Amino acid sequence: MKKVPMWLQMIAGMVLAVIVGLIFVSMGISEGNWLYSIFSFVSNAFIRLINMLVVPLVITSLIVGIAGLKDPLKLGSIGWKTIVYFLSTTFLAVIIGLILVNLIQPGTGFHVPSDVKAPDSGDMNSISDTFLNMIPTNPITALTETSILQIIFFSIFVGIAMVFLGEKAKPAYNFFEAFFEIMMKITAWIMALAPYGVFALIVKTICDNGSTVFAPLAKYMFVVLLGMLLHLCLVYFTAIKTLGKMSPIKFLRGVAPAWLVAFSTASSNATLPVSIRSVENNLGVGNRVSSFVLPLGATVNMDGTALYEGVAALFIAQAYGIHLGLGSQFVILITAALAAIGAAGIPGAGLITMVLVLNAVNLPVEGIGLILAVDRILDMFRTSVNVLGDCTATVVIGRKEGEIDDTKAEGVA
Ligand code: ASP
Repeated sequence: MKKVPMWLQMIAGMVLAVIVGLIFVSMGISEGNWLYSIFSFVSNAFIRLINMLVVPLVITSLIVGIAGLKDPLKLGSIGWKTIVYFLSTTFLAVIIGLILVNLIQPGTGFHVPSDVKAPDSGDMNSISDTFLNMIPTNPITALTETSILQIIFFSIFVGIAMVFLGEKAKPAYNFFEAFFEIMMKITAWIMALAPYGVFALIVKTICDNGSTVFAPLAKYMFVVLLGMLLHLCLVYFTAIKTLGKMSPIKFLRGVAPAWLVAFSTASSNATLPVSIRSVENNLGVGNRVSSFVLPLGATVNMDGTALYEGVAALFIAQAYGIHLGLGSQFVILITAALAAIGAAGIPGAGLITMVLVLNAVNLPVEGIGLILAVDRILDMFRTSVNVLGDCTATVVIGRKEGEIDDTKAEGVA
């Protein structure tokens, strides 16, 4: 077992999990059954273990990442590159999705059932509220409530202040650095359980969703999945090759653990410990880049979500027979990007921020009911793309900043 690399163990586990899941579905095993309970217990324990690390990891990695830059100019340079890169790839993702949905028209002729109901969208904030809510009134409350954006906001300030204070802040830097190492050690232990966690999660998801719900929405799913595949090949692989000067195969092998955890948990936040470990250990990305780019990316850089929001909005318009011209589609482009930035890195977050996109172009919010049945499955794929996008960013920015150790990149674990 020792000789088989982690990524191969996880992929094998995933294929096996799909087979076992389908067998369970055919046997009618679902909630309440003792076998289901075992899988449910293992998957919940795994998710709780990785979630346990997220808050301490985001704080320590951001503070150490920023304070470690030491020079305010370097900080500015990584900061700007990250933001420009995140925004460009997010817009490209929505554009790819919109082109496909216009070409393939998955919603035209779709039969809208009369009983579609809107899910509870009470959690949705306006755009200005979203920005205002990023500022914590009490950082300790932000910690206890896991308000990731607020935690990021505060940690960035602490890190920047430490850069300006230099030697004076050294004791705090040493503390956060040691704490960060401790978190990464625990991550390594939890990762040893990942193949089992991923296995249980996938079996449980298949049992929960069955396999028959997909048929009527197959064309819509196809457009979302094709869009994400194109985004991966056209945008990420090109960026990895030309800007990151790395082979896409090496990249994919290196980030496979992160991708699989993203896929099975459908949460960018929960994947964070694994993404940091994968890009540093397997791709040789420097900690100063990864610890800044990844926590930020896990919350604001969601290309998969942005693409899906654009496609879903247009699919709903087509299904209701509502024609949206170029102007409305431009509004969708902007709001889908914003909705993705505003979505939290947790399962199903994109579905909630969909309300923003639908409202912006006056589409019926009940339309969300149409796509609900397949949302979890698409969430698994879009989260994978979200995480791969963040990892791509670390390679591109790491290369630009001279923070990639290529000798390490050979040692894929
Ligand atoms: N689950 C996604 C993520 O964590 C967000 C979404 O629902 O699109 O990245």
